[in-house]
Amino acid sequence: MSEEKQVKVHVDKVNKSYGDNHVLRDISLDVMDNEVVVMIGPSGSGKSTFLRMLNQLEKPDSGLIEVDGYDISDPKTNINKVRENIGMVFQNFNLFNNYSVIDNITLAPVQLGKMTKAEAEKKAKELLETVGLPDKASAPVSSLSGGQKQRIAIARALAMDPDIMLFDEPTSALDPEVVGDVLDVMKHLAKMGMTMIIVTHEMGFAKQVADRVVFFESGKIQESGTPEQIFTAPKNERLQTFLSKVM
Ligand code: ADP
Ligand code: MG
Repeated sequence: MSEEKQVKVHVDKVNKSYGDNHVLRDISLDVMDNEVVVMIGPSGSGKSTFLRMLNQLEKPDSGLIEVDGYDISDPKTNINKVRENIGMVFQNFNLFNNYSVIDNITLAPVQLGKMTKAEAEKKAKELLETVGLPDKASAPVSSLSGGQKQRIAIARALAMDPDIMLFDEPTSALDPEVVGDVLDVMKHLAKMGMTMIIVTHEMGFAKQVADRVVFFESGKIQESGTPEQIFTAPKNERLQTFLSKVM
């Protein structure tokens, strides 16, 4: 057996336009098993579009995207199976507000036939421990704070046993005093070896948790490197300007 780490996500020269707006320009990026990649960059630079392409919520105009070794635009690839291995967490939670916490977490694994209801509920309770909300199983989602909702959204994504987690500004809609609770859950996942791609403006978190930081600007990866390289010795002028505004 090779000791080499597996490539989980392989993106090669991807382009995407909306009409005249060339949003992603020749983006290439490999993410390895267990790696935590943090994507930073100004609003409108294409970060969300990039994440959404990884589970084919958007289709690239050209280029190759492989997830777990599967070319996701190949018609022979079962995209739903690939998607089951990718958990996604959004800025605005996207929970079912009229359902209880546990129903939100068990819905997908039960509906997709991955687990029985009893198995899914057992797993959901473990996940509620993981995200620090063991008492909330039967609470209606509408009764939760934003920080609690986001931790439930993370538990819901984990219920499918994904091997990649995508986070799109998971703390941007939260009150400052609960941001840390959500980041702590993400730090825990990183420690457990979860492969993660995270779009965030939390530079302290990026410094602490990222294996690699990728700077997006104008639809291009302008620079990428270790947190050390990116935050203490940025080379790209646009990155320097960006950091001077956010740090
Ligand atoms: P970021 O997440 O870095 O803020 P986005 O990926 O959301 O950037 O957006 C990049 C560009 O693509 C922006 O100019 C945005 O207006 C445009 N865009 C994003 N989604 C769509 C869409 N569904 N239709 C048309 N334009 C879009
Ligand atoms: Mg975005």
